[in-house]
Amino acid sequence: MRLSIFARLILSYLVLFSLLAGVSLFFIYHLSQFNRVIQSIVSNDTAVLEFSNQLSDAFLSESRHDRKFVVLNDEQLYKNYLKSAADFNLLLSKALQETTVSETKALLHAIDDQHRNFSRLVMAEMALMKEAKPYAAADYAQEKQKIANAIMSQLKTIQQDSEKNVFSKIRLLRERGNQAGKIAIMIALLSLLVGLIVAVIITRSITTPLNAIKAKTTEIAQGNFQGDLVIDSPPTITELAEAINSMCHKLQEVDAIKSNFFSHMSHELRTPLASIKEGTKILLDGLGGELSEKQQRILAIITQESNRMIILVNSLLDLAKMEAGMTAYHFTPTDPASLMQEALQELMPLAEAKSIAITNQMGSLPAVKLDRERVMLVFRNIIGNAIKFTPDHGQISIAAAIKDKFLEIAVRDNGIGISRKDLDRIFLKFQQVIPTKGEKTQGTGLGLAMVKQIILAHGGKVWAESQEGDGSTFYISLPLSA
Ligand code: ADP
Repeated sequence: MRLSIFARLILSYLVLFSLLAGVSLFFIYHLSQFNRVIQSIVSNDTAVLEFSNQLSDAFLSESRHDRKFVVLNDEQLYKNYLKSAADFNLLLSKALQETTVSETKALLHAIDDQHRNFSRLVMAEMALMKEAKPYAAADYAQEKQKIANAIMSQLKTIQQDSEKNVFSKIRLLRERGNQAGKIAIMIALLSLLVGLIVAVIITRSITTPLNAIKAKTTEIAQGNFQGDLVIDSPPTITELAEAINSMCHKLQEVDAIKSNFFSHMSHELRTPLASIKEGTKILLDGLGGELSEKQQRILAIITQESNRMIILVNSLLDLAKMEAGMTAYHFTPTDPASLMQEALQELMPLAEAKSIAITNQMGSLPAVKLDRERVMLVFRNIIGNAIKFTPDHGQISIAAAIKDKFLEIAVRDNGIGISRKDLDRIFLKFQQVIPTKGEKTQGTGLGLAMVKQIILAHGGKVWAESQEGDGSTFYISLPLSA
C-alpha cells in the first residue's frame, strides 16, 4: 500500500484511539447497568421496606386502640381507633399504588382483605358494647388476634422479601463488577497487544526502507556507486531512494572523470621526468661525448633534482589517490613485528650513519589484517622521520601493546621534538615544522599525511606526543580484527 508517512502515522493513532474508545464505551455501558440496579434498589426495595414498616406500626397502633376501647369503652378511644384504621387504609392504598412487584402487590391485597375482616369484627364488637349487652368477648378477642397475626406475618413476609431482593441485587452487582473487571483487563491487554502489533507493522513499514537506504549509503561510502535502490513505499522515502540512485549515477560519472584525471596526470608528469633522468644518465655515462668536470657537476644536480621531483610527483599522486578514495587495499594477515623488522633493516644504514641506536621491543604479537605494502610505507615514514629528526648518537625505541582490541605501536625518539601547537598540523599536507636543510633531512611534507590516510583506511588511528627538545613518540593503533 503506497501510503505516505503522515497517513501511516495518522492510521496508527486512529487504531490506538479507537481501541481506547472501545474500552471506554465498555466501561460506560457497565456503569449504566450498575446505575440501573442501584436505582431499582433505592426506588423499589427500600420504598417497600419503608412502607411495610409504617404499615406494621399503623396496624399495631390500631389494634392497641381497639384493645383499650374493649377495656374502657370510652368514646375518645373509639375515635382514636377510627383514625388509626383510616391511617392504615391510606398507607395501604399508597403502597399498592407504588409497588411494581406483583408478589408484593398480591400480599398487600391479601392484607387489605384481612384488614377489612378485622375492621368488620371490631365494629361489630363495638356495637355490642355500646348496647351494653353481654356477648362472647373471648371469641371476638381470639378471632381478632388470629387476623392480626395473619396481617403481621404477611407484612413480615413483605419485609423479608424486599430484604432478600436487596441482598440478591447487591450480590448481582458484586458478581457483575468482578466480571466486568476481568473483561476490562482482558480488553485492555488485547487492545495493548493489537496497538503494539499495529504500531510495529507501521513503524517497520517506515524503518525497513530507511534501513535499506542506510545500507546503501554505507555502500556508497565504501565506494560502491551502483544506483540500484528499489523502494516501493512510502512515497517520501521512494523519492529519497530515487534521489540517491541519481546521486549514484552522478558519482559514477565523477569517479570516471577522476580515474581519467589520475591516469592522465601520472602519464603527463612521470614520462617527461623519466626522460630527463634517462637523458642525463646517458650524458653522464659519456654516450653524448666527453664531458667537462663542470658539465658533470651540473648533470649530477639535474639527476638529483629530477629524482626528488619523481619522488614528489609519486607521493603527490599517491596521496591524491588516497584522498579521493581510489586506492585499492589488499588486506592480508601479517605479523606486525616482522614487518617492522623489514622496515628497520632497510633504514639501518641511515641510522648507522648517524650512530643512532634502535631497539625493537615489539615481541611476539598476533597477526593483524593489513595491506603489507602500505603499512610498510607507514613504518618507513615514521622510523625515517625519527632518524631524520634525532641528532647523532641518539636513541630510538619501538614498543607494542594490545589495548582494547587494538594493536598499539609506539615509536619513541630522543630527537628535537615538536612544539604543542605544531603537533596538530604535522599530519596535514606540506606541513614541515622545521624546514630541514641538507640532502639527508630533506622531505616533501607529505609523509605523515599519507601515513594518516593509510592508517584511517585500516580503521585505525595515528597521533604523536612530544615535548619540544625532548624527543617525540608516534603512536599507531590498528584494529586486531579488520
Ligand atoms: P617530511 O617529508 O618533512 O618528513 P612528514 O609529513 O613526514 O614530512 O613530517 C612533517 C613534519 O613533522 C616534519 O617536517 C617535521 O617537522 C615533523 N616531524 C615528523 N616526525 C618527527 C620527529 N620524529 N621528530 C620531530 N619532528 C618530526
